[in-house]
Amino acid sequence: MSTQFHSTNYRAPKTDFFTAVLTGQAPDRGLYMPESIPRLDKAELQRFSGAPYHEAANFVLRAYLDGISDEDLLAKCKKAYSFMPRLEKAGGNKHILWLDTGPTASFKDFAAQMMSPLMGHKLGRGEKLVILTATSGDTGSAIANAFHNIPNIEIIILFPIAEVTSNQRKQMTTLGGNVKTIAVSGKFDDCQAMVKEAFADERLKGLKLSSANSINIARLIPQSVYFIWAYAQLAKAAGEEVIFSIPSGNFGDMMGAILAWKMGLPVKKLIVATNANDEFPAFLKTGTYNKIEPSRMCISNAMNVGHPSNLTRLVDVFGGRMDEKGNLLKAPDMEKMRGLIHAVSVSDEETRKCIADTYKEEAIVLEPHGAVAWYALGEFLREHEEDAQTLCISLETANPAKFPEEINRILGISPVVPESLSKLDKLKEDYLKMDADYAGFYSYLSKI
Ligand SMILES: *Cc1c(COP(=O)(O)O)cnc(C)c1O
Repeated sequence: MSTQFHSTNYRAPKTDFFTAVLTGQAPDRGLYMPESIPRLDKAELQRFSGAPYHEAANFVLRAYLDGISDEDLLAKCKKAYSFMPRLEKAGGNKHILWLDTGPTASFKDFAAQMMSPLMGHKLGRGEKLVILTATSGDTGSAIANAFHNIPNIEIIILFPIAEVTSNQRKQMTTLGGNVKTIAVSGKFDDCQAMVKEAFADERLKGLKLSSANSINIARLIPQSVYFIWAYAQLAKAAGEEVIFSIPSGNFGDMMGAILAWKMGLPVKKLIVATNANDEFPAFLKTGTYNKIEPSRMCISNAMNVGHPSNLTRLVDVFGGRMDEKGNLLKAPDMEKMRGLIHAVSVSDEETRKCIADTYKEEAIVLEPHGAVAWYALGEFLREHEEDAQTLCISLETANPAKFPEEINRILGISPVVPESLSKLDKLKEDYLKMDADYAGFYSYLSKI
């Protein structure tokens, strides 16, 4: 049985998984979504308790994919996940799911490491694929690392020059080879717009372009695995309910949770925690959607997104329709959405306070993204005393050492630096600079 994928704009043909993966964005500029989401029963959701992470990944992916043998898929999962997430208990029934254990120390490794073998799998012999990626920080490094030296794939990464930390930049610009990086004098949304424009540009039809952004379905499905895996480790009884808190920017991570919920995970509440870019919390409250342009700069810089690409997928799941520009063509079932999701915007001041308090009270060093979610969870539990005993899992999406300046300002200490980051200072950087304007990017692409 094969899962088909439809475009959220419904003007492109349905397709199988691998075609959707190699295309990235659908030809009608919509995003691919599974037509039907496989349901797992309660026992299946718990069977990965104590199991290696790659077994859970294999099980979830197998439910969506065909065109790859069982042995091959299992081997790819095993190779991709030589690391696994770490769970930390922190007061009451609250837990932190640390997703910073991969090669570039952000949660994006969990998707990127799985995506590269899946993309390579269906690439014809001698075919060259060009992957365009806009990043607000961590996607670029995770993708660069996962695809570095993969034959026949060229990676082009656009990042906003003033909005990434020097560590984040070095993780992308020091690899070389098939990894090309472009520093754009603009914001993340400008980078994303340039990439989208290139995909729609008829003049570039000769290039086989694809995307590794969270608009690619191969990023999304692997991101549902850690919700299921973490639940299996912590749930004491089959069917026990769980609350997740997710630091959100482009909404790829939270869509992973939505898929896990659709697969049957007993999610009581999904807390979608944003920084000052509060377009989604406002939408959930009022039903009226307004993008934030330009997006607001916050210390959780990978979440500085004024219009989350994956919002159109969430709207789709709840029966509505949103086009790629953010126009709401058909309202989703807002009541149902509010039943599942609690959305909240957390300021930089609250984020800093949370980092300081958590260090003082729990001796845990959080970084700005995870702190947004942890703060939102704390506030939620203060308002919902009935959930004091509910299993709660908050996501930490990066290692604190990726933000040493901010941590040092708040806590007066230097976070422990993992080996993947400590080696960066010795490496040479190489990147192009470009204005936030499509003409220049087109000219660059037309010459590769
Ligand atoms: C990308 C990123 C996020 C936001 O994830 P989305 O899937 O874009 O919502 C949060 N934290 C960190 C550290 C990130 O790199």
